[in-house]
Amino acid sequence: MRALKHILGLFLATIGSMFVLSALVGLLDRDSRVFPWAFAAMLVLLGLTALGGSLLLLWPSVCAPSRACPQCGSPERANAGVLRRTNNLWLSHLGGWLIGSLWGASRERQVRCIQCDALYLTATRGTRIAGVLLWVFLLMSLIGAAIDYFK
Ligand SMILES: [Zn+2]
Repeated sequence: MRALKHILGLFLATIGSMFVLSALVGLLDRDSRVFPWAFAAMLVLLGLTALGGSLLLLWPSVCAPSRACPQCGSPERANAGVLRRTNNLWLSHLGGWLIGSLWGASRERQVRCIQCDALYLTATRGTRIAGVLLWVFLLMSLIGAAIDYFK
């Protein structure tokens, strides 16, 4: 159920962002007769409603408690500060620096347990938000490519 909510939230966020973006693009294009003010306002309203709904759906999974220490179960930890190479060259090449750096930011972080000094990987709120943004951008470029293809 939580996974379903998460996927639904990602789609709502994507649709909402696309509505808002296309309204903005239409408004900035002064020659465009396709985007009268009322239409743009409706798009923004729909987009913001979708974004609000996606926030409600995604918030519980973004704020879900991070993994506790696998050795002693303590939730207290510090950043391990070990530099791990999280750059995916293939993805950066294909999706540009934005997708590449979001992918890096969405990877689990290595942390050190304060109680027993064990090192382990866990997701944080930051990595989860980056993960959501990564999916929204990927879905947006997929939908954009599909629209271009069938136009
Ligand atoms: Zn521990």
